[in-house]
Amino acid sequence: MNFDIIDLPSENMSERGEAQISLIIAHCIGLDFMGSLRTLTKSSAAGGGGVSAHYFIPQISGQEIVKCHADMLPSLEFRYPEQVPVFRLVREKNQAWHAGASSWQYFNEQPGRAQNLNASTIGIEFHSPGYAKGDGSDLYFFENFSDEQIKTGCALIKEICQRWSLPLTRVLAHSDIAPLRKTDPGAYFPWEFLAAQGLGLWWESAETLPPLAGINRVSYVQERLNSLGYDCPQSDVLDEHTQKVITAFRLHFMQDSWRIDDKSDAVALNGVIDDALLLKLAGIKE
Ligand SMILES: [Zn+2]
Repeated sequence: MNFDIIDLPSENMSERGEAQISLIIAHCIGLDFMGSLRTLTKSSAAGGGGVSAHYFIPQISGQEIVKCHADMLPSLEFRYPEQVPVFRLVREKNQAWHAGASSWQYFNEQPGRAQNLNASTIGIEFHSPGYAKGDGSDLYFFENFSDEQIKTGCALIKEICQRWSLPLTRVLAHSDIAPLRKTDPGAYFPWEFLAAQGLGLWWESAETLPPLAGINRVSYVQERLNSLGYDCPQSDVLDEHTQKVITAFRLHFMQDSWRIDDKSDAVALNGVIDDALLLKLAGIKE
């Protein structure tokens, strides 16, 4: 697939050093188009967010960007105007400031990565204006992504995996690596569509509940989430931390938890351990 890459260098970056790229992290930013780009490219002192990602993928095509934002982005030229382009904000050889305090599996073991996976990850921001309800107050208010945006995103992810010899499964949500703080890219990010192309982790249907052999359901869930890679306590108690990790798992693998009209019910499902959760945990292919 052909798509344009537009360089818009961010001030918010640092050297990666010797760290090896191991994971690709999908994010979502819910500000308006220019506000998102400003947040991701300018320092806090310059009116930006002091954060970044390597790539920003808008919902709209090159053509529409020229039409809607020509006054602010005057010199953009597109070879593939019908396609959604990719804005490159930070070069892959450098660190983007996207992950924050985060962890996954054993990827924090190398020096300098105990608390933060920026050094070993590539961050991709998918634009979804309206996510988190504009003012950011409701982190469970999701908006759909555009089909063309997701196609461009998948093509970019495949190309990154090829370039760095990464297994295609090494794509995660920001909420997977920072479940206590983050909900992005949210319950409408189409992980199932990605999985159909081999991207990211997915599950095979399991029809019988896993044998719980003397351990309680909470212990099973905690052990399973931990072995997948989540930072989940092994306390045998459904504590707040565990509930947030269950929420992160549902955002990625059980998105039906949110696809109902009554949002209060959806949020109530967050920390619930039902049979559907056990079945799904048992069926994840690692
Ligand atoms: Zn994020």
